[in-house]
Amino acid sequence: SGEIKIQNVCKDYSSNGSTLRAIDNISIDIKDSEFICIVGPSGCGKSTLLRMVAGLEPISSGEIHVAGKKVTSPTPSIGFVFQEYTLFPWRNVQKNVEFGLELKGMPPEERSERAKKYLDMVGLSKFKDSYPHQLSGGMKQRAAIARTLAVDPDILLMDEPFGALDAQTRNLLQMQLLDIWKTERIKVLFVTHSVDEAVFLADRVIIMSARPGRIKEIIDIDLPRP
Ligand code: ADP
Ligand code: ADP
Repeated sequence: SGEIKIQNVCKDYSSNGSTLRAIDNISIDIKDSEFICIVGPSGCGKSTLLRMVAGLEPISSGEIHVAGKKVTSPTPSIGFVFQEYTLFPWRNVQKNVEFGLELKGMPPEERSERAKKYLDMVGLSKFKDSYPHQLSGGMKQRAAIARTLAVDPDILLMDEPFGALDAQTRNLLQMQLLDIWKTERIKVLFVTHSVDEAVFLADRVIIMSARPGRIKEIIDIDLPRP
C-alpha cells in the first residue's frame, strides 16, 4: 500500500487565551515497510503528532496523506495501538479481534478464520475464549495488536504500547513485534520515550527536541536486526 506523507504539519493548542505550538512544521515521508520510532522527552509532541496521523486530532496547518488519501478523521485503514489496553471488556479475545471485521461487514466464517490467523500470530490461540480481565498486561497488548492488524491497515501507529509492562514482558513483546512486522511488511510509526527501545526496533529514529514540536535529528539505524 501507498506512501505516508506528513507535510509541513503544525499543531497549536489554545487555552485561556494563550497558544502552545505543540508541533512546529514537521515533515516525514514513510516508504515501503519502514519501522520508524519517534523518541523524545515527555511533552515534546510525540502523542500529538501520532494522533494527527490517526485522524484523532485536528491539524492546525499542513497535510497528512496515508496511501494517497488526506487524513481528516479516524479510519480502519489507520491502525492505532494505545498504551492503555483498549480491549472491550464484555467481549472475549476472539470477539475483540473480530470487532473491526464486523464493522467491515465480513461474513462470520471468514471473520473467524481471519481472527484465528492473527491470534496465532501473537501467540494467543489458546486464550481466544478468555475475557480481557483474565489476561496479563502483555497478553492484552498482544490481543490489541492482533485486533488492529486483522483489518489490514495501511499503517500501524503505536503510542508507547509497551510502556505499562515490566521490563521482561516488554523485551519479549518487542521481539514478537519485530517478527510480526517482518511477516506483515507493514509501515510502523512507534512513539516511545526510550532511546533503547527506539534503536532496538527502528529502521529510522526521529529524535524530537525538548523544545516542543521540532525534529532534532533523524538517524538511520543499520545494525543487523535480531
Ligand atoms: P504523555 O506524556 O504520555 O503523552 P500526557 O500526560 O502528556 O501523556 O497527556 C495525557 C493526555 O492529556 C493526552 O490525551 C493529552 O492530549 C492530554 N493533555 C496533555 N497536556 C494537556 C494540557 N495541557 N491540556 C489538556 N490536555 C492535555
Ligand atoms: P508527548 O507525547 O511527547 O509527551 P504531547 O503530544 O502529549 O507530548 O504534548 C505536547 C505538548 O502539548 C505538551 O506541552 C502538552 O502539555 C500539550 N498538549 C497535549 N495535548 C493537549 C491538549 N489537548 N490541550 C492543550 N495542550 C495539550
